[in-house]
Amino acid sequence: MCGIAGYIGPKNAAQVLIVALERLKYRGYDSAGLVVSEGGKLHLRRAAGKLKELDAKLAAQPLSGHCGIAHTRWATHGPPVEHNSHPHLSADGRIAVVHNGIIENHVALRRELEGEGVVFASQTDTEVVPHLLAKYYDGKDPVAALRTVLARLEGSFALGVVFADRSDRILVAREGSPLLIGRGREPKAARTDDRRSTEGGTPWTERELLVASDIPALLPHASEFLTLEDGQIADLGPHGVRITTFAGDKVEARFRPIEVTAEAVSKGSFDSFMAKEIAEQPSVLTRLIDSRLRGGVLVEPDLGLDLASLRHIVFLACGTSWHAALLGKRFLEALARVHVEVDISSEYRYRNPVAGGDTLVVTISQSGETADTLAGLRLAKSKFLPVVGLVNTVTSTIAREANGVMPLLAGPEIGVASTKAYTAQVMALYLFAAQVAKAKGLLPRDAEEALVAAARALPDLAERTLKLCEPAVEECADLYSAAQASVFLGRGGEHPTALEGALKLKEIAYVHAVGYPAGEFKHGPIALVTKHLPVVCMCPRDAMYEKMLSNIQEVKARAGRIISVGDAADRDLRDLSDHLLPVGRAGDELLQPILSILPLQRYAYHVARRRDCDVDQPRNLAKSVTVE
Ligand code: GLU
Repeated sequence: MCGIAGYIGPKNAAQVLIVALERLKYRGYDSAGLVVSEGGKLHLRRAAGKLKELDAKLAAQPLSGHCGIAHTRWATHGPPVEHNSHPHLSADGRIAVVHNGIIENHVALRRELEGEGVVFASQTDTEVVPHLLAKYYDGKDPVAALRTVLARLEGSFALGVVFADRSDRILVAREGSPLLIGRGREPKAARTDDRRSTEGGTPWTERELLVASDIPALLPHASEFLTLEDGQIADLGPHGVRITTFAGDKVEARFRPIEVTAEAVSKGSFDSFMAKEIAEQPSVLTRLIDSRLRGGVLVEPDLGLDLASLRHIVFLACGTSWHAALLGKRFLEALARVHVEVDISSEYRYRNPVAGGDTLVVTISQSGETADTLAGLRLAKSKFLPVVGLVNTVTSTIAREANGVMPLLAGPEIGVASTKAYTAQVMALYLFAAQVAKAKGLLPRDAEEALVAAARALPDLAERTLKLCEPAVEECADLYSAAQASVFLGRGGEHPTALEGALKLKEIAYVHAVGYPAGEFKHGPIALVTKHLPVVCMCPRDAMYEKMLSNIQEVKARAGRIISVGDAADRDLRDLSDHLLPVGRAGDELLQPILSILPLQRYAYHVARRRDCDVDQPRNLAKSVTVE
């Protein structure tokens, strides 16, 4: 899951790389490091802990040089201490490597190298790579050496490599982990401060080149990018970018303009990306809804599918995306009468699922790089099932490998806990279900008009809900931030909301929390209720309202602290609850969960702040889970 970056060009490489790491740290942040190749030597700086530790080291011992690679880690093999942080060096200190992924046959390779006298400096799987490179590099052809090493690796990786004897080259390779290459604008003229201090002292007149795991890290230096594909090597240097396959075949380097702006990846006036992304939800929803309508009418997505003949859908997702999928099932059943299964990707991929030719697989992943979901996608494709990707990052692997893509258009989501991508997923699934219903002739004109009106009204309702709920949310956070545990209850469409609310509290505030279908609570977990337990009850005026009121009564009878989420004007609910987090009322009941989750996102945020947690970079997590 880590982030990788690389730079060759006229600027100070370490300074460019530290900014790139700042933009990648959402992918992993337990240690970081960088290396610069200059004057025939590799100059290494690494630090355990957050990026500011590396920053401080670099300030104390600055680096010059114009070619380097960098890494922010989410440890898989070996604890997050300095000697395990990347880059890793060959024993002679002449080759440095950064790696995202897992080398699965590292134990056998390590044994072989140790047998040859190599002494390892870390416990990582990664370190076999620089040692193997040193073994095969003859001082002449670094690409040939890398190709030989790649043939020996099993697992998933994006690799970046620099050499002491080539201070103007970066090699990268990809198999299973994302990697992008960025290119700067044509240099107008080489200015004196743009002079490289390479051996020849020649000014850098080429376009600067960057490498990164994700687009934000290519900004602001790159104006164009390309995605390296699995099984490809790129050789970056004054000659530009040369791409070949692992087998040695040439591939044309085709760059595309970068459309993400630097503003989209900054916090602006907010104290955290999470706060910014929560606040962005109304505008994200508006953009998404507009993209699925033409002249106020639903347009069929261009997925290359005959929606009218769909009989079965399987959703594959993990974490928050799985909660969105649970709602997707409700939408498709309610609107389009399609049979839907929802599977957790890491389970699906190791079963032998039964699926016929009329099944569509929909993979849901914000980043589009989630390893388990990608593996599920590949399994489905191997069974000749059509696959659609519901992703936020349209340059991602899932987007490229799926037969069709439904983009979320939510803009970069940087806070590790998903907020705007979740509500966008839910809305996208609602509109998709409506499109399937329409294709099947199950959505008459007036029903379509009502549905579109309800969707269009939602962004305003979300905006108002965020304002309306804030005082009560803060009050609850004040009262319950010290609670050891919390329960979230909901029925129907609010069951996924309860799961998602509990997940938010766990991941950013480290409070043990469980979400339950409220009707199931009495079958065991109700034993948890004491006067110290906050129980968050999702109780909008939907079809399950009366049933939910009874479930709240059951908790109240056992003295639990009741925080309800419901209609501001609901006197009965207010009287029954210790606190009411008010939300707006959606025009279509199916859409209500998009409003109901908003106070729970803000609640988790406020509880986390009161517990001194870093909301953007919660411990032990990373944003896109590109390992199993
Ligand atoms: N497996 C490598 C390690 O543990 C890389 C992990 C990552 O992708 O951050 O160091």
